[in-house]
Amino acid sequence: MRLDAKIPAGPLAQKWDRHRFELKLVNPANKRKYDIIVVGTGLAGASASASLAELGYNVKTFCIHDSPRRAHSIAAQGGINAAKNYPNDGDSIWRLFYDTVKGGDFRAREANVYRLAQVSNLIIDQCVAQGVPFAREYGGLLANRSFGGAQLSRTFYARGQTGQQLLLGAYSALMRQVATGKVRMFPRREMLDLVLINGQARGIVARNLVSGEIERHEGHAVVLCTGGYGNVYYLSTNAKACNVTATFRAYKHGACFGNPCFTQIHPTCIPVHGTYQSKLTLMSESLRNDGRVWVPKTPGDKRKPSQIPEAERDYFLERKYPSFGNLVPRDVASRNAKEQCDQDKGVGDTGLAVYLDFADAIQRDSRAVIEKKYGNLFQMYEKITGEDPYETPMMIYPAVHYTMGGLWVDYNLMSTIDGLFVLGEANFSDHGANRLGASALMQGLADGYFVIPYTIGGYLAGSRFTEVSTDHSAFGDSVKQVQERVAKLLAARGRRTVDDFHRELGLVMWDHCGMARTNDGLKTARSRIQALRAEFWENVRVPGAEHDFNQSLEKAGRVADFLEFAELMILDALARQESCGGHFNEAYQTEENEAKRDDAHFCHAAAWEFTGDGKDPVLNKEPLVFENVHLTQRSYK
Ligand SMILES: Cc1cc2nc3c(=O)[nH]c(=O)nc-3n(C[C@H](O)[C@H](O)[C@H](O)COP(=O)(O)OP(=O)(O)OC[C@H]3O[C@@H](n4cnc5c(N)ncnc54)[C@H](O)[C@@H]3O)c2cc1C
Repeated sequence: MRLDAKIPAGPLAQKWDRHRFELKLVNPANKRKYDIIVVGTGLAGASASASLAELGYNVKTFCIHDSPRRAHSIAAQGGINAAKNYPNDGDSIWRLFYDTVKGGDFRAREANVYRLAQVSNLIIDQCVAQGVPFAREYGGLLANRSFGGAQLSRTFYARGQTGQQLLLGAYSALMRQVATGKVRMFPRREMLDLVLINGQARGIVARNLVSGEIERHEGHAVVLCTGGYGNVYYLSTNAKACNVTATFRAYKHGACFGNPCFTQIHPTCIPVHGTYQSKLTLMSESLRNDGRVWVPKTPGDKRKPSQIPEAERDYFLERKYPSFGNLVPRDVASRNAKEQCDQDKGVGDTGLAVYLDFADAIQRDSRAVIEKKYGNLFQMYEKITGEDPYETPMMIYPAVHYTMGGLWVDYNLMSTIDGLFVLGEANFSDHGANRLGASALMQGLADGYFVIPYTIGGYLAGSRFTEVSTDHSAFGDSVKQVQERVAKLLAARGRRTVDDFHRELGLVMWDHCGMARTNDGLKTARSRIQALRAEFWENVRVPGAEHDFNQSLEKAGRVADFLEFAELMILDALARQESCGGHFNEAYQTEENEAKRDDAHFCHAAAWEFTGDGKDPVLNKEPLVFENVHLTQRSYK
């Protein structure tokens, strides 16, 4: 397959303006002739639906949840980046662009990242106009704090609930359009297949999660905003419903999957505490503005933190990375925490934790100031662990948090299937091998509010469409396949629960395709996943019925997809014989244990193409051309 990223010509800073001018337009009266399907109502999907409807398109919006507001975006805590430079500390669009490309270990497309930085400022204006209650300084200007991988403050926030507030803004805009009739909302629907007609994405097949009915929906384009697939690891900070199903089914129809092995492990999460735990809790990166990360200097030291004197503590991030200190990017902080624990310096009962200590900040700024900044996060920590972080350091450990991989998209956010657009965490576009904190909200809203409204018009105006209805045989074939799969899941009547399979898959992935990877480990993982998948279809037990509200059945379908998709992640990790960002292959590291890239052979985005069940997919490569930044060994020292 020939990948065409459709990057506009011309100087970097002018590409987007020029492209918007060159894109064909759909005239206002014609917009109402087009139906657009948007799957997902997180920040990407809600903003896209609202913006497209505002333009005059007819939008049908789908989500798994009972309300669009329950999308996983609501969980986002720390903030959203933008290059406003309100603190006057040296920010610019160029610097946000540069930090993001460097943060992603030079594995993202320059033009997309630059556009992201450009529109970042518009997002803040839009959200303020919607009434999003960002924190403000005494003088009234919006406040900023710092996130990893940046030496300045560019993160806008609403306490530790930024995602919630942003989503309420996008949701209000969405519901305004529901009220006008331009958006038809389909909650509690799960997209289970994509329908292609004449090579174009023309519809979806979805299961009504309440009645079990399999529904057909047609449109002129399909926009997937279905989020990330971190739950392939079972334990992650993601909401339990996050899944890969929509994007994976699209992959099976010809949408290439970009960089599936690029997973972000977040350094500051509440450590695992039991076998039957169902998810992990993030402690926002914003905490590293004031919290200091440390371990005892002596291996095996099991004293309480209060009994360990200052001289016997190792503030390892501050020691190793004096320039960025505790605010090194997530991949770097996570690997370092793991390294300390591997040296038997980890704390807590399991030894799989490091301290995040606020004692100095409380002494310096007062408890009241710290409480104002992070009160809800501290409260959450105390509720879960029973320990008061104002009095004793938090214990944290890395956990799966975000997936940089996703469906491959071009500059227009269109996948390798005509008319299938992919936005937000579901695409692979902007974060390379490691996402900087506070950049996911920025990307989701950039895609939804400011990119898709232009690029989808270019597609619609430049394409020919035949009339289709849901009676078309392509819909019939798809419904048949979906029904057969549902029936097969229910018919297995085995002895193991879906969660049991999922947990085992997650452990395999965490052990072999997690923070550190080896070729042998990846190969072992591949065969274990194949065996587990075979057993799943023989031995899974899915209780309940098809035409009913059946969450076991929902989960089973998602886990079945994870069991296939996990193998694609492994293949991608094996193919990338270098280390970069979140993909750390132990064979490729610098003398100081940092990720060692191989730009001569791997300066590309991997785009995997499905070739049939039971066959290995084909690896296509989009070369990444850096004309504006210099490829260097990433350093945060
Ligand atoms: C705890 C936590 C805190 C975070 N904090 C921050 C932060 O401070 N700053 C930041 O920038 N990023 C943060 N992130 C990352 C960020 O929240 C996500 O990357 C982002 O919100 C994803 O938005 P999205 O719109 O792409 O997808 P989501 O919000 O995940 O929405 C996905 C939507 O798709 C729907 N869906 C999924 N599959 C289907 C299907 N098959 N059929 C129908 N509908 C489907 C869901 O119902 C949902 O509506 C955080 C992540 C976590 C886990």
